[in-house]
Amino acid sequence: GVDPDAILVIEGAAKHFGGLKAVDGMDLQVAKGQIHAIIGPNGAGKSTLANLITGVYKPNGGTISFQGKEIGGLAPHKISRSGVARTFQTPQLFHDATVLENVLTGFPDTGRTSLLAAAVKPPSRYRRDAEMRDEAERLLDLVGLADLTDVLAGELPYGKQRALEIARALASSPELIVLDEPAAGLLATESVGLGDLLIALREHGYALVVVEHHMDLVARVADKVTCMDQGRLLSRGTPEQVLSDEAVIAAYLGK
Ligand code: ADP
Ligand code: MG
Repeated sequence: GVDPDAILVIEGAAKHFGGLKAVDGMDLQVAKGQIHAIIGPNGAGKSTLANLITGVYKPNGGTISFQGKEIGGLAPHKISRSGVARTFQTPQLFHDATVLENVLTGFPDTGRTSLLAAAVKPPSRYRRDAEMRDEAERLLDLVGLADLTDVLAGELPYGKQRALEIARALASSPELIVLDEPAAGLLATESVGLGDLLIALREHGYALVVVEHHMDLVARVADKVTCMDQGRLLSRGTPEQVLSDEAVIAAYLGK
């Protein structure tokens, strides 16, 4: 059944690449203010599922409903406008722009999901400049970058680039943020800081879907864990339940 608190409800989602069923009939429900981790071995279909939620791919089947509205197959900017933001496995930032400017590119009027479109229209041209700047500063404060607004993004350590990418995602005023392997490439200390940030976002009421295979991070922050294997659900439950599930352990050892 559908959880009445769910803001994201996926039923039977499928994505095929030729004969390969990358996502093969997945269900998922994410509640407001919940961190839902998606784990699974390489090639399990985690990124593909994230791409279905955010409109990068159109599903071959199933439904993806966000706040009661079907979003499966909509263009990424429409999904973004309906309240779903994302970050990528590799941060997608303007390295030659400042931290603040990078956040400004995340506001809906600046070209939506297109970095290029945002670059062509400098933020100074927009209405509500001062308001956007204040909001960007608030978001940078939330992610712990308040002291670095004028630093070039390319000069930030990797962990702070991650935080910046999250601040930019927040600029679209999402209810749900989909993060694909946010701890990839982070130092252990940075990964702890990322965990703190994810917990802070939950406290602010954001729902998070976090594709991640750093199990210490998953165990620390996730309210619920879904393990995928070969495009399908392998295990679901609390972090304790899923991380001790024999089938999950076997799937990881098998790769
Ligand atoms: P994960 O993120 O869990 O490692 P992916 O979702 O990236 O897995 O990939 C799932 C499967 O789909 C893999 O076998 C991968 O090679 C394949 N795949 C992913 N994207 C594409 C694509 N654009 N074209 C063809 N095959 C793809
Ligand atoms: Mg992936």
